[in-house]
Amino acid sequence: MEIPFIDLKAQYLRIEAKVKENIFRVLEHGKFILGPEVYELEEVLTNYVGTNHCICCSSGTDALLMSLMASGIGNGDIVFTTPFTFFATAEVIALCGAIPIFVDIDPHTFNIDPENLKKAILAVKQKDPTIYPIPDVIKKDSKEYYPKAIIAVDIFGVCAPYKELEKIAQDNNLILIEDGAQSFGGEYHFNKACSFGDIGCTSFFPAKPLGGYGDGGAVFTNSEKYARMLKSIRVHGQGEDKYENLRLGLNARLDTIQAAVLLAKMEVFDEEIAKRQEVAKRYRNGLKDIAEIKHQYVPGDIQSAFAQYCILVKNRNELCEFLKQKGIPTAIYYKKPLHLQKAFEYLGYRQGDMEVSERVSENIMAIPMHPYLEKEVQDYIIDCIYKFYNQ
Ligand SMILES: *Cc1c(COP(=O)(O)O)cnc(C)c1O
Repeated sequence: MEIPFIDLKAQYLRIEAKVKENIFRVLEHGKFILGPEVYELEEVLTNYVGTNHCICCSSGTDALLMSLMASGIGNGDIVFTTPFTFFATAEVIALCGAIPIFVDIDPHTFNIDPENLKKAILAVKQKDPTIYPIPDVIKKDSKEYYPKAIIAVDIFGVCAPYKELEKIAQDNNLILIEDGAQSFGGEYHFNKACSFGDIGCTSFFPAKPLGGYGDGGAVFTNSEKYARMLKSIRVHGQGEDKYENLRLGLNARLDTIQAAVLLAKMEVFDEEIAKRQEVAKRYRNGLKDIAEIKHQYVPGDIQSAFAQYCILVKNRNELCEFLKQKGIPTAIYYKKPLHLQKAFEYLGYRQGDMEVSERVSENIMAIPMHPYLEKEVQDYIIDCIYKFYNQ
C-alpha cells in the first residue's frame, strides 16, 4: 500500500470541474495581475475570518514581511518569536534588519509560552541574560534596542494563547502579529484564526489547510491604517497614482489564477476542516493506549486546523523506518529549532537555551493528515504504530 502524506489529488478530483471553470474564466478575461478574482477572494476571506480587511499576497513569507514593514520595523528593533516554527517566521525579522529574540514553547501545545515571553521582555529591558537567554549584542554597555513586536505562531494549526499574548503586548506596547500559516480555518474562543493581534498572516502553499496550486498568502487586519500600508507595500510602495511611490515596497501580489483556484477550494473548505477534526479524533482514540506516544495538546477553547497531526514518540527513527517499510510516509517538523540554525549563529544562542523546543525537536513526528484520509487507511496506520510498540 502506498499512502500519500497529503492527498491533493483526492481533493482535485472532487473540485476539478469548478477549478477548471474558474481558471478558464481568467484565461478568457486575461487580467492575470490583480484581476477581479483576487478582489473577490479578499471579500470571501474577509467574511470568513471576520476582520475588516484582507490583503492577498504572494506567499506566507511575504505576508509576514509585509506586516513587519507596515509596522515600521527596522534596524535595531526587537521582535520576539518562537524557535519552534518554520524558518520563515524568524527569517523575515532579520531581513527587516531587526533582531529576532527566541522565546521557548509550552511543552504541551508547542506554542510560545507567555511566562517565558514576560521573562524575555524583562531580560531585554534590563539587558540582563541571567533573566532569560538573549542575543549577545544586547549587553549592559550596548546601544539601546527597542522591543517592537511579537510574532506568535499557531503551530500545526493550534492557535497560540492570544488572551495572554494580547495582554502582554498591550502592557509592553508591542505590536502582535499572528503567523497563521498553519491554522487557517482553526478557531480560538469562537473567533477564526488570523483574526488575532494587530495583524494576522497566512499561507496558501499547496500543503497548508487552504492550499493553492502554487505560492500565495494573505494578511488580515481590522486597522484601516495597516490595510492602506499593506496594499501599498504589495505593489512597490505605490500611492494613489500608479507611478507615485510613497515608500519602499515589494512585488508581492497574489496571481489571479491562484485566486481563482482558491475560490473553488473555499466552497469545500469548511467541510474539509470538519473532516480534519474526525481524522484527528480517530488518531487520538486509536493511539491512546500506547504509553510511548504523546499527542499535541489542543485546549478546549481551540479548534485546530490540523495542518499536521504531530505526536511525541519514543524511538522516533526506528518508528519512521518501520512505517516506511509498511508504505506509510512520515515527516519531522521541526528537526532543529531556529536558535540552533546556522543562519542565526550570529545571535549567539547555545544548546540548552531553549530546553523545551530542543527536547520536542528530538521526539516529534507527523503522521499522514488530510481531509480525504479514509478510515480503513487510518486504521492501518494506527495498527502499524501499535505493532511497532508491541512487537
Ligand atoms: C509555511 C509557513 C510559512 C511560510 O509560508 P510560505 O507561503 O511557504 O512562504 C510561514 N510560517 C509558518 C509557520 C509556516 O508553516
